[in-house]
Amino acid sequence: MIIKPNDALNWIKKSAELIAENRAYLIELDAPIGDADHGANMDRGFQAALQKLPELADKDIGTIFKTVGMTLISTVGGAAGPLYGSFFLQAGLKMAGKQEMSPSDWAEAFEAGVEGVKQRGKAQAGDKTMLDALLPAVQTLKRSIAGNTTFRQALADSVEAARLGMLATIPMVARKGRASYLGERSAGHQDPGATSSFLLLKAAADTWGGA
Ligand code: ADP
Ligand code: MG
Repeated sequence: MIIKPNDALNWIKKSAELIAENRAYLIELDAPIGDADHGANMDRGFQAALQKLPELADKDIGTIFKTVGMTLISTVGGAAGPLYGSFFLQAGLKMAGKQEMSPSDWAEAFEAGVEGVKQRGKAQAGDKTMLDALLPAVQTLKRSIAGNTTFRQALADSVEAARLGMLATIPMVARKGRASYLGERSAGHQDPGATSSFLLLKAAADTWGGA
């Protein structure tokens, strides 16, 4: 499958839908190890991104991602705003001017986005953050695409890797962000950011995996 600008817009729409559906769940996850705002932050940001989509109708994929990134930075707030903002800005830079994105282009854009999150937040695998979902997802996506699996299967594989990465945050002790203030007491809770990352990847697979 080749992803066109309209498919990129549909991913953002689906993301906004899944985040809205899971708003309360993300708040509930952020309550014991944070400040119970992750669902509200993400929903505010993606609803704002949704408002921008009409003016992006004739734009290239890089511009779409960049605009979403800037919108998230100015509306999500908290730790997640700048982090997801960096994700979309870096993915957008990789896709600058592009009217089409192949599966391997997507893997490159996704990898650049994850690299943006790493640079911005200085977290690593195992720190109990969104990276614990994003890193295995990007590794799996690249491996599946290199192995000539269908794009639908590669997307499904990367969502499953994100889901397992999200669940793997439960026993982890947080070393970054608000949850790290709790030290050992942060263990036993699923990370909200890893959960929202899983949802964004699920939105991509739901949107692009059908074709
Ligand atoms: P805040 O913690 O400011 O209230 P949110 O609740 O919106 O912001 O987001 C919290 C999520 O942000 C965490 O669950 C975690 O996944 C992610 N996060 C926090 N700090 C970092 C970091 N340095 N690097 C990557 N992700 C981080
Ligand atoms: Mg919070």
